[in-house]
Amino acid sequence: MTVHRAALVDLLRAAVPPEALRPGIDVQHVQPDGTVHHGGGASTADLVVGADGVHSVTRRSLWPHLPGPRYVGYTTWRLIAPPQPVEGSVETWGRGERFGHVPMPDGRIYCYVMANAPADSHVGLDELRERFARWRQPIPALLGSAHEEAVLQHDTHELPMLPTYVSGNVAVLGDAAHAMTPNLGQGACQALEDAVTLAHAVDTLGVCAGLEAYDRDRRPRTQLIVRRSRQAGAAAHWISTPMTTLRDAVLPLLPNMLFARSLTPAYTWTI
Ligand SMILES: Cc1cc2nc3c(=O)[nH]c(=O)nc-3n(C[C@H](O)[C@H](O)[C@H](O)COP(=O)(O)OP(=O)(O)OC[C@H]3O[C@@H](n4cnc5c(N)ncnc54)[C@H](O)[C@@H]3O)c2cc1C
Repeated sequence: MTVHRAALVDLLRAAVPPEALRPGIDVQHVQPDGTVHHGGGASTADLVVGADGVHSVTRRSLWPHLPGPRYVGYTTWRLIAPPQPVEGSVETWGRGERFGHVPMPDGRIYCYVMANAPADSHVGLDELRERFARWRQPIPALLGSAHEEAVLQHDTHELPMLPTYVSGNVAVLGDAAHAMTPNLGQGACQALEDAVTLAHAVDTLGVCAGLEAYDRDRRPRTQLIVRRSRQAGAAAHWISTPMTTLRDAVLPLLPNMLFARSLTPAYTWTI
């Protein structure tokens, strides 16, 4: 099921009492005892959850000696095209670049483009149109109908594996714990699973045992998905002609079952 990120954020925000949110507060440092230093001073809590993304201050505070995000060598553009007929969800591979499109429930089409590039290189919509002009339809049509202001470009990062997701009274979750390549579309999904698991564990076991249970439960699963996601994208970014020719000849011969089996662990989960 495809859900627009803004719609998901609205749903989550509506479920939280407004007085529980303090927007615009910049967290600067987090201590394992639950003290959070921020732009408004310092606060202490029995449980602190660092869900502050791939450049997490929480993670850096707790494990300052561990390396930060690693650029994986390809950048990603995302855009929403106006409603138009497309044949379901399709990803098309080239040499070191690919284009994917996914219909959304309201008829608009979510599109993504991934391409090998040096970090921090900026490419606009006109250049993307030019680059994909000779790809099969509906790719040129989708790019042609998009608007520049609807295009997001982000470099793709992965975080090195953490030995634990918990330190003292603090847990990290989502990208702060396990930022992954977007190849399986699982980063936000795993963040949601983390949150549900952590809330359930702390509710039933208390903070200390709940945090231990959260780490035990979530680390193996999320780190497996980080690896699977990395592997799932690798062949799309090959650039050597012999390798891509071999890839394009062999992939269509593999049974669909093989792909389904490798994806099943990511898409099946119960608490
Ligand atoms: C190109 C691309 C495509 C993707 N596609 C998918 C997909 O199809 N499906 C999917 O499930 N996932 C996808 N993802 C992954 C997904 O975006 C992330 O995994 C998800 O957003 C992680 O959620 P999070 O809450 O952990 O972190 P974030 O969404 O990064 O949220 C972190 C929050 O913390 C705040 N913050 C950060 N630092 C501080 C600070 N110091 N003080 C206060 N606040 C702070 C930020 O402002 C932000 O609001 C994609 C990612 C990329 C880059």
